[in-house]
Amino acid sequence: MFSYKEEFKKSFVTRMERKGMEKTAELAYETLWEMTQEWIQKRWNRTNQLYRDNNEKKLYYFSIEFLIGRVLGQNLINLNFYDTVKEGLDELGLQLSEIEELETEPGLGNGGLGRLAACFVDSLASLGLPGHGYGLRYKGGLFTQHFVNGYQTEQPTQWIQQEHNVDIRREELAVDISYYGEIQVVMGLDGLKVNVENPEWVKAIPYDMPVVGANGGTVNTLRLWQAEVSDRPFPGREDYAVYEHETAKITDRLYPDDSLEAGKILRLKQQYFLCSASLQTILNNRSFSIEALPENAAIQINDTHPALAIPELMRLLIDDHALSWDQAWDITTRTISYTNHTILEEAMGKWDSRLIQSLLPRIYLIIEEIDRRFKKSLQQQELDEEALHKLSIIENGTIKMAVLAVVGSYKVNGVAKLHTEILKKREMKELNEQFPNKFHNKTNGITHRRWLLKANHELSGLITEAIGPRWIKEPERLSELHYFAQNHSFLQDFQAIKSLKKEHLIHHLQRNQNVVVDPDSIFDIHIKRFHGYKRQLMNILHIQMLYDRIKRDPTYRPYPRTFFFGGKAAPSYHFAKQVIKMINTVASKVNSDPLARKHLHVVFVENYNVTQAEYLIPAADVSEQISTASKEASGTGNMKLMMNGALTIGTFDGANVEIFEEVGQENAFVFGMRAEQVMQYEKEKSYNPKEIIDSDSEIAQLMEELIKGEWTDGKNNVDFIVGQLMEDSDPYFVLKDFRSYSKAHEQILKAYAHPEKWAEMCVKNIAASGIFSSDRTIQQYSNDVWHLTKIPSIY
Ligand SMILES: *Cc1c(COP(=O)(O)O)cnc(C)c1O
Repeated sequence: MFSYKEEFKKSFVTRMERKGMEKTAELAYETLWEMTQEWIQKRWNRTNQLYRDNNEKKLYYFSIEFLIGRVLGQNLINLNFYDTVKEGLDELGLQLSEIEELETEPGLGNGGLGRLAACFVDSLASLGLPGHGYGLRYKGGLFTQHFVNGYQTEQPTQWIQQEHNVDIRREELAVDISYYGEIQVVMGLDGLKVNVENPEWVKAIPYDMPVVGANGGTVNTLRLWQAEVSDRPFPGREDYAVYEHETAKITDRLYPDDSLEAGKILRLKQQYFLCSASLQTILNNRSFSIEALPENAAIQINDTHPALAIPELMRLLIDDHALSWDQAWDITTRTISYTNHTILEEAMGKWDSRLIQSLLPRIYLIIEEIDRRFKKSLQQQELDEEALHKLSIIENGTIKMAVLAVVGSYKVNGVAKLHTEILKKREMKELNEQFPNKFHNKTNGITHRRWLLKANHELSGLITEAIGPRWIKEPERLSELHYFAQNHSFLQDFQAIKSLKKEHLIHHLQRNQNVVVDPDSIFDIHIKRFHGYKRQLMNILHIQMLYDRIKRDPTYRPYPRTFFFGGKAAPSYHFAKQVIKMINTVASKVNSDPLARKHLHVVFVENYNVTQAEYLIPAADVSEQISTASKEASGTGNMKLMMNGALTIGTFDGANVEIFEEVGQENAFVFGMRAEQVMQYEKEKSYNPKEIIDSDSEIAQLMEELIKGEWTDGKNNVDFIVGQLMEDSDPYFVLKDFRSYSKAHEQILKAYAHPEKWAEMCVKNIAASGIFSSDRTIQQYSNDVWHLTKIPSIY
């Protein structure tokens, strides 16, 4: 209805005037917000009506995180109203970009896993597929990061705004969740029945958020659950204030996924809350018989956090719907599928049996029974101890959620070719042998609607000018850019846009962090959560080495580079926090040195999140993807940067392997050990970092400076880092790959000296990036796992 600027302006002005106040950006934000919600609501109603009328199979994507980023601008893009609104506002003397800045992004995720879920719901809606997200509505989200004296500090993120909320409370769809209680076996009409007496009830209230697909054709739902006190009486509860407090805590904040902290009980409560509430809604509101669940619903669990969906669905089918174990198991294992996201031991999802037994007694019994039956089914085979260990769900008082997830689902996928191979051949070899057709690969993707159309509107415009607009619907058509990779005027336009996006980033940083960056320097960008395997330490050690060289060698005067870092460390991850402190210390040392400053600049962008990523990625020349081979399951930051014309310096890890395959290794800077070598060293325990220190004087000097505390404001800030490199034998092979990394950086400098050739490589990267759109990933999931049908689009 709304394709014309004049119409928009008229309506906008009328609404502003009705509010009767000054023309402030805040008021404009509120007005635009309301208008957008109205446009969306119509389309949302229509999609829901279509779903009711057609009754096709639906996908439910269960994820403990949805890192959606700001929504206002993205919704305008997906509605196709962005340009109209932007120009209209311009003519009214308002800037859309300023208005967008007023939105606080909901921090409902830690990193890649949560962002993947957000990209997936965008692609589902954009492809017109019936797929909804189910998650939790964390009041304080993930913490906001600030630096105080170079140390990370953490504060809750206040993203919920009462006046113009991004989601709608659905009181009428509330369900009750139960924790604790005592198991009672009673005689029912048709045999024994298990009851849980005196549980603690908590109410789950859904908040629905619209997920606007491309062209506004389909609007799906992201449903986020909030915990509140239940109306149900429960006699066991004397202290109501404690109960109220404990209940509110369930969805109070998001826990960093790799933290080792206490609060495990709360995390288990969260996981069960998500699974139980979501499954109850699906079953309560169905229009088909319970036996037909697998034909009408697919449930994808994003990593093991929602793996309790398996025993919970069993519980609902057996206890509430009176099905037999075999019927229930058949339905469950044809409904649920599982995505594995990591092979890191610490993140595999293990629970103390006693914890589950006390918090979720009925669920514990069901897991025990699943384990018992599975073990029984293995009895005929001659399996050795190692295999039995790998195949057990419960073992020595521990419940292994990854094994439960594989046994209880019909498909299991890894998230990049290499990762899936490692799962099948190593980590889950025995499970793969038991279920040979279960495992498959689905290489991750990113939505080009946020990471190119929204984040880099200028580059998107240039691409459309060159190859026409069809790539927006079919991103693999970006390959047509190959014809322009040697077109002089196209390359010049590309370079001009890169400079413009650098200016935008510079302006943003000036405003937010008061730092000034040289726009002519190489923008080398390392943004992701802080973790040992992501090797931010290697990058900062390398910068330290460059500094030493500049100070030592008067002939070494390299082209100016700005090294950007961004990322948060889990609050209890001391090593990662020390690396953050180290980067900040190196930054102040390098940046305040008049000589070094001409060649090196280190900028640590505070509070890395989706909004910051949208500023950083379009401005990048170099993309740091330097994880220890075999450790990064896929990575998606790598794809975003490639799509924006940054060149990758990276290892053969995760989706990097496929990026190199698509673009050609000659258009990237590949270095370091292969996954095979890393795993060989790990198996043989044969790597000794001391040999490297002894044979390489420059590395030896770095280590000496590090140990002395020269780069970290004193020795006590460095004990975890030195401990890991020396006593702990450098588990992420930082020193082992260091030389090869440093050489790759030298190659970058050589290549950057030829601007047109460099731009050609960038354009080749963009041209090869289409396959990394999450539209491709989602279509593959739909074809191979979910079997969804597109709903007819009205727009
Ligand atoms: C894409 C993204 C990530 C994932 O980055 P990786 O480099 O794949 O680890 C993390 N955080 C944010 C905010 C992102 O947008």
